[in-house]
Amino acid sequence: MTRPRILVVGAGFAGVECVRRLERRLSPGEADITLVTPVSYQLYLPLLPQVASGVLTPQSIALSLRRSTKYRTRIIPGGAIGVDLRAKVCVIRTITDRVVDEPYDYIVLAPGSVTRTFDIPGLVDHAFGLKTLAEAAYIRDHVISQLDLADASDDPAERAARLQFVVVGGGYAGTETAACLQRLTHAAVQRYPRLDQSLIKWHLIDIAPKLMPELGDKLGRSAQEYLRRRGVEISLGVSVSRAGPEQVVLTDGRVVPTHTLIWTAGVVASPLIATLGADTVKGRLAVTAEMTLPGYDGVFALGDSAAVPDLDKGDGAVCPPTAQHATRQGRQAADNLIAALRGRPMRPYRHRDLGLVVDLGGKDAVARPLGLELHGLPAQVVTRGYHLAAMRTNVAKTRVATNWLLNAVAGDDFVRTGFQSRRPATLKDSEYVHAYLTPEQVREYVAREHSGRP
Ligand SMILES: Cc1cc2nc3c(=O)[nH]c(=O)nc-3n(C[C@H](O)[C@H](O)[C@H](O)COP(=O)(O)OP(=O)(O)OC[C@H]3O[C@@H](n4cnc5c(N)ncnc54)[C@H](O)[C@@H]3O)c2cc1C
Repeated sequence: MTRPRILVVGAGFAGVECVRRLERRLSPGEADITLVTPVSYQLYLPLLPQVASGVLTPQSIALSLRRSTKYRTRIIPGGAIGVDLRAKVCVIRTITDRVVDEPYDYIVLAPGSVTRTFDIPGLVDHAFGLKTLAEAAYIRDHVISQLDLADASDDPAERAARLQFVVVGGGYAGTETAACLQRLTHAAVQRYPRLDQSLIKWHLIDIAPKLMPELGDKLGRSAQEYLRRRGVEISLGVSVSRAGPEQVVLTDGRVVPTHTLIWTAGVVASPLIATLGADTVKGRLAVTAEMTLPGYDGVFALGDSAAVPDLDKGDGAVCPPTAQHATRQGRQAADNLIAALRGRPMRPYRHRDLGLVVDLGGKDAVARPLGLELHGLPAQVVTRGYHLAAMRTNVAKTRVATNWLLNAVAGDDFVRTGFQSRRPATLKDSEYVHAYLTPEQVREYVAREHSGRP
């Protein structure tokens, strides 16, 4: 008898947690497990702003998928570009650009999300995103290169433009990014005696009336205060109306001369979800509380790409796209898949939100663990402790803790690596949103490839 084939798509918080649980709870004879992922690590995204600001090295938040000899999952290096749910076949583009297909009996869809963009002229051509390790490493080099170029220039207008930086998105990702990078440039500029420090200006922009509304009024104001004290100019109720290589035009009419636009204005589900032709809620796959797809057998979806009902909140709410939920959904989806395999009942996903932690660099932080409002050093201790506890492997925890210690003792370093310096890394270049097939193309491909097969 052949073993059931389980295919997991995406090696993020949800996918890796699910795979590890399946490996632990299923005997090798019970099922074959395969994982499709373009990269060979799980990225700890919440610390990406600290990679962008050079506090952490890129490797410290890239958790290897091959850390243990106990891991028995077969890994296909590539990305799923379509799924035919009726034929139970996933179409994959490998990292060498070969298109292959992978039949499955059970599929776990956890491809996460991509940066949400809008139809703003010039946006995808000129803005940088912060969703991948490459983008974070690129942003760090780019920001330091602006200081180098401003320092070398005798043109006051060029100097001023290179020393202005715009971050769009007042959620935790954007706020942390602006805060951490402002600290980097503030420390770096001391090493550039020719530069006028007062020219360095960070802008944090959001269309919403508040920063990080999920933190509550008091902590939101605290975060704002930390940033204002450091000279970050916060503009609320404002967005970008046009982006160019040397300036950004805001919706209130202001023109900011800049070579740096960092776009962290939210996420949308991976384009893979649209290839399924199934129901969605604001782009996320509409699944049950058990994380199954109604009407299809053996399909599970979770994490940022799925709208999993939030039973704790009730009232039709869906879980927000956070690592906290994705990790726990990964475990529960594995248990439910095993239950389906063994003919047992599944359990709905339920999790009470543990709160939010926001690292603004140095001793500045705000946190709301279990409803308790903290700021300053106590918040920073909770924030860093939370990240260390949440990271999957001890080696990653040690790398991150060592980096923090080194940074606290020796300060920032301002090396520009030159890595990818001649390759563009804007939203258009970094997030492969056009690689996917349409539902019709998926069906045609599968019908063609499988027509002659027994
Ligand atoms: C800068 C930043 C800061 C954040 N801070 C926090 C925080 O403090 N707390 C918190 O709870 N959450 C935070 N988040 C959100 C959190 O990171 C996400 O909610 C979480 O990563 C979602 O997990 P996931 O498994 O669904 O997706 P991901 O972790 O994004 O994983 C998706 C995986 O799928 C892979 N993939 C993508 N497309 C395909 C494909 N077609 N085929 C195969 N594989 C594919 C990707 O390479 C990736 O490995 C932050 C996010 C960002 C960007």
